[in-house]
Amino acid sequence: MSNVIKVAVVGAAGRMGKEVVKMVLEDEQLELVAAVNRSHEGEDAGTLVGLPACGVLVQSDLEMALIGSKPDVMVDFTTPQFAYPNTQLAIKYGVRPVIGTTGFTPEQIEQLDKQCQDQGIGGLIAPNFSIGAILMMKFAAQAAKYFPHLEIIEYHGDQKLDAPSGTAVKTAELIAKNREEIRQGNPKEEETIEGARGGYYNGFRIHSVRLPGVFAQQEVIFGAFGQTLKIRHDSYERAGYMPGVNLAVKKVMEYTGLIYGFDHFIE
Ligand code: NAD
Repeated sequence: MSNVIKVAVVGAAGRMGKEVVKMVLEDEQLELVAAVNRSHEGEDAGTLVGLPACGVLVQSDLEMALIGSKPDVMVDFTTPQFAYPNTQLAIKYGVRPVIGTTGFTPEQIEQLDKQCQDQGIGGLIAPNFSIGAILMMKFAAQAAKYFPHLEIIEYHGDQKLDAPSGTAVKTAELIAKNREEIRQGNPKEEETIEGARGGYYNGFRIHSVRLPGVFAQQEVIFGAFGQTLKIRHDSYERAGYMPGVNLAVKKVMEYTGLIYGFDHFIE
């Protein structure tokens, strides 16, 4: 029996999806069995990403692709609007979801976990597959034990749909586990321009910067008497996420239930 993992990539013609297609085609332990995208139907997935033709043509209907190619794993980098129904569909067909698309609500994650448990398959939703970003989140969560006053500033390109970023939300959740809720700032503070103080989470603030030319960065700033600590991560290109996606595709074969966050795979 072959141990090759059969992978379907959804959002295959997108910026992240193309990197995933490349990564899958270049790993002998993985086999690209389907490439799904709303546009580029009929194009060869290999040539689409600048590699030799691989014989897998882009399809636009996910359900047909899942039925026809019987993948072990579906990797999704689409949009927040479609990633949830896509994930439900994959689980329905017993295909393990590895989801990079951001913007899932806690209720959706809970529901998908239940579906994975019912089907006896593993799944992963990871707002950030970058190992450096995971370390930044873990270090920030650790620092919050000693420096409970903090703000998160995240920077992304101006076409990003969700705010704050999935990484910022995940960071906030990890920090909240290590810190009592403290409402920071002056209790009498007033915004003269709405939103000036950023989004409120567990007593601290999250700021989302959206600008052309920016890729993905985040800093967590801690303030205490006489000192500040800044923990910052900068991503410069999409290929940097691929070692994480590759590891996730392999790991998801080994457990049951939905894991939220790539941090669970980084000790
Ligand atoms: P993109 O717009 O370049 O690509 C999205 C692709 O999905 C497009 O080609 C679009 O045609 C396709 N698509 C949309 N809806 C679809 C559907 N229903 N079925 C099939 N294809 C569909 O976007 P991107 O920059 O590649 O980002 C995609 C997502 O990944 C975003 O949510 C982004 O926030 C997230 N992201 C996550 C990570 C991570 O590490 N988890 C890193 C970067 C980006």
